[in-house]
Amino acid sequence: MKIKALSQDLINKIAAGEVVERPASVVKELLENSLDAGSNQIAVEIIKGGQDLIKVSDNGQGMTREDAELAVQRYTTSKIAELDDLFNINSFGFRGEALASIASVSRFKLQTKIDQELVGAEIEIIDGETIINEIGWETGTTVTVQNLFFNVPARQKFLKTQSTEFNHILDLFSGYALLYPDISWKLIHNDKTILNLPKAKDWLTRIEAVLGADIARELLPVAFDGWEIRIKGFVAKPALSKSNSKSQYIFVNNRPVRDYLISMAVRDAYTTLIPRGEYPVFVLKIDIDPGLVDVNVHPRKSEVKFLDTRLIYRAVYNLINSVFYSGDQPILSEDDISKNPALQKPMLSQVSQYNPSANNHGTTNQAFEFTRQILQGRSGEIRGDEGKLGENFLDDWKLLGQVRVSYLIVESRKGLIVIDQHAAAERVLYDKLKNQLKAEQPRSQKLLLPINLELSAVEVDLLKENQDLLGKIGFMIDEFGGNSFNINAVPADISQYEIKKVLLGVISDLEDQEFRKTKIVEEKQDIVIKYTACRSAIKFNDQLTWEEQIQLLKDIKRYNVISCPHGRPCLWEVGWSELEKKFKR
Ligand code: ADP
Ligand code: MG
Repeated sequence: MKIKALSQDLINKIAAGEVVERPASVVKELLENSLDAGSNQIAVEIIKGGQDLIKVSDNGQGMTREDAELAVQRYTTSKIAELDDLFNINSFGFRGEALASIASVSRFKLQTKIDQELVGAEIEIIDGETIINEIGWETGTTVTVQNLFFNVPARQKFLKTQSTEFNHILDLFSGYALLYPDISWKLIHNDKTILNLPKAKDWLTRIEAVLGADIARELLPVAFDGWEIRIKGFVAKPALSKSNSKSQYIFVNNRPVRDYLISMAVRDAYTTLIPRGEYPVFVLKIDIDPGLVDVNVHPRKSEVKFLDTRLIYRAVYNLINSVFYSGDQPILSEDDISKNPALQKPMLSQVSQYNPSANNHGTTNQAFEFTRQILQGRSGEIRGDEGKLGENFLDDWKLLGQVRVSYLIVESRKGLIVIDQHAAAERVLYDKLKNQLKAEQPRSQKLLLPINLELSAVEVDLLKENQDLLGKIGFMIDEFGGNSFNINAVPADISQYEIKKVLLGVISDLEDQEFRKTKIVEEKQDIVIKYTACRSAIKFNDQLTWEEQIQLLKDIKRYNVISCPHGRPCLWEVGWSELEKKFKR
């Protein structure tokens, strides 16, 4: 074995692996440089998810030709000079390696000019070779990065599809745009303007422009100042929760970060207000003494480390908790409560079988009647006013009722059957939608009044990309200008209740890898049907009327349901002999 020193070019490429993971990481470094340079106009242009082109232009202070030449070398920075500076950082950059790293894995060009000079400088770096020219330029800097990873095929292989890469960029861009309402931002992808954000008059206006009016309308302001922590931001009402954590924006000392601790604290504060598996929407700005937080832990600086994690957790938890609860009682409007199944304390859910009309809570009378019937041991023979109530036999099945607002219990010839109401309903819906698609005529139900959707830029992108696919299964959605869309029709079999939430859910599901990675149209359709079924089927904690329970049983029989589309079981049957064994009979 012979030990060799690595060439500077190779060192840069290796280092680039740490800083530049994907197109979005390039965008991040360039945006941060533009911010550090005091810009108030920043434009980002992307082609093919950043693999062909990433161009960031700003009107910041720019660089002299000499500085520009230095800037593209490794470990050159204007931002720190001594070790002590590291613990008191007010700029985004300081490692002085981004430009050199990016230049080593792309065809790189930097154009810049400072105010005091008449001409600007252009530096091109291609394959380690540097070419410098004088150019005419406005004050500010533009960095152009082409053919990212063209000389590192191994990296290139790890890149995902164009749209996935672009979504990462969009996420990141949205974060900075949210954080800096005073700056005007523009994002262009494949020649299309995705976000065009003029300087906003206040923070909420910017939040609305980025996240959409539907979300902005449902946000509640929060603020906290104490324990050397300042928190400011907005949290969404529980009914707005999403299926992923994309709509959670955390800024620590003016840096967008992903932080598990803070997400957990918020999640815990919502506790029972949102169903398991859903994520609250929020935008939180946290300012803390720079000495109490380490931003240097991560080469891409996308994570932070708090010295006192419990302090942060408690501050965030208490703050959010105080919005929704006072004492033990959640302080929410009736409207919120009626929208959120998890909040509906099932009143007398065990008597739901005596409750033929929807939205009719059990009354004392019904409870009394129920007890009486139980005492008389004749619960199977009850007759209601409409005669329907006695209808609990379906061939050899006898419905006993709903328990825990989640399961249906049925007596069959062979034993007892416990049905997971969500899994079963989801399966039924999946089969129904699937059958229609096979028949090549999706049955749509036209909505009396179109439902308006105000989407975020990410959602607009996802929706447009998949509009045909959604149309095939019965969702008729029209563009209404800007980020606004109208839902005109939905698949015939889905409940008209909460259509908006269902569709927003399905749109966010379209970001999942499972969907993105398949290219086969039929598979894509199948996945969208699965999402739609999951989103619109009866949920756990949905109180079902007697008719709804019977309907579900009928469907289960008709479609011969055994397991849900995710493969989880829907039914569990305990045979009489098993029961006998259990009781040693
Ligand atoms: P860092 O940001 O960590 O200092 P970079 O490699 O990103 O390292 O940038 C090196 C230096 O180049 C910066 O310290 C800054 O002085 C200068 N620079 C980079 N981008 C810009 C820009 N958009 N406008 C003005 N100066 C810039
Ligand atoms: Mg930098």
